[in-house]
Amino acid sequence: MRLGGPARYVYEIEKPEEIPDAYGFAKTYNLPVFVLGGGANTIGHDEGFNGVIIINRMRGITDVTWMGDDSGRGPQNVLQSKNFGEGKESAGPIQIKVMGGEPWDNVCEYAASKGLSGIEGLSKIPGLAGAAPVQNIGAYGQEITDTLTEIDVYDSETNSFRTLSNEDLQFSYRKSILNTTAKNRYFVISITLTLQPGQMPRPFYDSIEKYVSEHNVTDFSPANIRKIISEIRASKIPDPREKASAGSFFKNIYLSEPDAETAKEKGYPVYKGKNGYSINSGWLIEQAGFKGELLHGIRVNEKASLILINESATSYNDLAKARDEIIAKVYDKFGYWLEQEPVEITNENFKR
Ligand SMILES: Cc1cc2nc3c(=O)[nH]c(=O)nc-3n(C[C@H](O)[C@H](O)[C@H](O)COP(=O)(O)OP(=O)(O)OC[C@H]3O[C@@H](n4cnc5c(N)ncnc54)[C@H](O)[C@@H]3O)c2cc1C
Repeated sequence: MRLGGPARYVYEIEKPEEIPDAYGFAKTYNLPVFVLGGGANTIGHDEGFNGVIIINRMRGITDVTWMGDDSGRGPQNVLQSKNFGEGKESAGPIQIKVMGGEPWDNVCEYAASKGLSGIEGLSKIPGLAGAAPVQNIGAYGQEITDTLTEIDVYDSETNSFRTLSNEDLQFSYRKSILNTTAKNRYFVISITLTLQPGQMPRPFYDSIEKYVSEHNVTDFSPANIRKIISEIRASKIPDPREKASAGSFFKNIYLSEPDAETAKEKGYPVYKGKNGYSINSGWLIEQAGFKGELLHGIRVNEKASLILINESATSYNDLAKARDEIIAKVYDKFGYWLEQEPVEITNENFKR
């Protein structure tokens, strides 16, 4: 959001061996630690951060393994396989290991270019790969939990390196243990994904279905779906390099089945997805009259009301005032309490 003051210390990690040093430094001086990726989902406070920011600068997509296929041939190094990516019959699932400092969209591009499906829907989500499991990034019907096998981490509580499986991470909508029960405990070094040759199953997410029928698209390869998603996103989501935003500022509202029935009776648009019943919070914000409005220097995006843009706000307080007005009005009108999605770097709430 391009708000917030400076951090006292920043530690950039280029090798796993440097991680214990960074945490050791913070411990010695009794300072809190915040692990930062690309900052796309993080908001700073005006007073700055009196602690140590640690950034994963380790990059690379490696350890590419073909997991074998129906032909009975065993795993091999895919980079040596000439047939790799040529057809869905010939190849089985592929595992890739991505260092946490790699820009996330490079991973989506890499997978799509190899004909691998599973993360094409997550194309163009800003940020680094290490942050992807933290809030279980999701878009267009896919979430990182669908393809994530395990992650390598440094555990600041036990001062040791560990591997956590998908199950260990307890993923749900925009949640994992990394942003709930084990918040600030682990430094994500790398993530391992298992991707499938082939294409996204149909029916696609509504807006993709709409696009393919309007444009008579018949090529549903990961590369083409990625291209379509890039186009859809560019048409409604402002480029964060040009307009400061944190993407969706609020989470969607998830409802129990009886509450979903009540909401439908009231005429609210209820969506049923793999995580259950939900209402798009952007719709609630729009109905509450905020579409395109400017509040304390914060613009409610005209095309997607879930996105707040910092147009002329000069302090965290401007953003907080805009956010709180939106939450209060939506609650007054609909009785739903919007929950903020981006994380805040504060000087409180840290274990030292
Ligand atoms: C324009 C825009 C569009 C967006 N669209 C989407 C979308 O469609 N779907 C979606 O899910 N999100 C979306 N987002 C949110 C954001 O892109 C994701 O949350 C992304 O994963 C953030 O990555 P980052 O590296 O910038 O993380 P940061 O903002 O730097 O960090 C986010 C959280 O992850 C933690 N973290 C980061 N790196 C590590 C690490 N190596 N180890 C441990 N913890 C770490 C941080 O402490 C923090 O809690 C969007 C954001 C923007 C600006």
